[in-house]
Amino acid sequence: MQNQTLFPLYNKDKPAGDPLQASQAEASSHTRRVYIETYGCQMNVSDSELMAGILTQNGHQTVPHLDDADVVLVNTCAIRENAETKVINRLVQLNHRKRRQPDLIIGVCGCMAQHLRDKLLDAAPYVDLVMGPDAYRNLPMALDSLARGVESHVSMTDRDPFVGLRLDKSEDYADIAPIRKEGIRAWLTIQRGCDKMCTFCIVPFVRGRERSLPLKLLVEDVEKLVDQGFKEVVLLGQTVNSYRDNGADFGDLLYAVGDVNGLERVRFTSPHPADATDSMIDAMASSASVCKHLHLPLQSGSTQVLERMRRTYTAEEYRNLVSKLRERIPDIAITTDIIVGFCGETDDEFMETYQMMADICYDSAFMFKYSEREGTLAHKAFLDDVPETVKSERLKQIIELQENISAAINRDTVGDTVTVLIEGESRRNADKYHGKTDGFKTAVFPKVPDTKIGDMVNVRVDTTTAHTLIGLTV
Ligand code: SF4
Repeated sequence: MQNQTLFPLYNKDKPAGDPLQASQAEASSHTRRVYIETYGCQMNVSDSELMAGILTQNGHQTVPHLDDADVVLVNTCAIRENAETKVINRLVQLNHRKRRQPDLIIGVCGCMAQHLRDKLLDAAPYVDLVMGPDAYRNLPMALDSLARGVESHVSMTDRDPFVGLRLDKSEDYADIAPIRKEGIRAWLTIQRGCDKMCTFCIVPFVRGRERSLPLKLLVEDVEKLVDQGFKEVVLLGQTVNSYRDNGADFGDLLYAVGDVNGLERVRFTSPHPADATDSMIDAMASSASVCKHLHLPLQSGSTQVLERMRRTYTAEEYRNLVSKLRERIPDIAITTDIIVGFCGETDDEFMETYQMMADICYDSAFMFKYSEREGTLAHKAFLDDVPETVKSERLKQIIELQENISAAINRDTVGDTVTVLIEGESRRNADKYHGKTDGFKTAVFPKVPDTKIGDMVNVRVDTTTAHTLIGLTV
């Protein structure tokens, strides 16, 4: 078996009559039932919706259960080692299924496909399709061709897998309508790729260079989402606030989206501290529908570690930014990401992170131990030399600290009335609803007549935990 087949990328700008387009049209005559399984971040969820859009536009059908599928696409994450391990284990399970269902097509898409390339095909030779984030337009053509192999009874071991991994700086999928699940919150990708090159991160290598979608198109997309019944839109990008479209910046986009009639809330993730401009802060402070919540990844409270991470800001600059945000938006909720045990992190450097967290008092935090990723700049330049036991101990310390801070912040809201967008029934009690506050805190409260999912209600907070506000509608 040949190791891989590189096939040409379908070009959206090519005129009708292009043989590649003809091949896509041909694909429509073979409807495939595709089950998409998504791992990783919200950007991947959004990409799965995009893949569903591409497949549906080309006559294929996405199905909600694996049992109903003749194609399974595993949309993967490469950000941490355990995310990759999870996918490899899942592929082993899918291979068992393939033994019972030999015509099942297994595809691996997303960041891990881009990151592991040949290694993935060596480890999982039964995979039929490997496709990176910039190649999804080729899915229909790839499925069609693989299906032809199935129909001609070419044995699995003799069939060449498809590999589409070229990064394409011009690919923004602006013309593709994603297929979203119904709900109250829609995720809208406004920018793809990243130019920052943090030394611990694989994203720039697997998602390519940064590119923004046109502002006018995004506003139209949001209008359509409101027409479809969505109440909240979350703008997505790897460094969402470095958004640029001609002269417009991220603040301009926030204002424009915030003005869309009928939209209750706008959120965004993840911003980069170095791109937190006055224009962004002004829009957050002034636009009624832009939520007063900022997820502002710190990663480390030590300037030396930040330098090694190539985060492009110092601990002092970050502190100043938080002060400015709190001055302009006094009720802002700030959350963050922290990595402990990065290459060379000393006890003192770790304590700077601990102290920074204690001083800033984040509403909540995602906290991780550093996990080395092959192909990153840190992997090439530094030693992953903090022992695992030390990483674990440091992580334990900041988790404890953050739990106490989150619990105290929530306790302070007892007696306050908060506005909650109802998202669904409480999982533990069907007589209750759960929803989110403007600051992205979960609130749980008993249902009252004449309220439904998607409504905004006022809830008086009676009790709290570190993660939840509990109360009654008023
Ligand atoms: S800003 Fe840094 S951490 Fe975020 S995606 Fe880009 S390189 Fe990765």
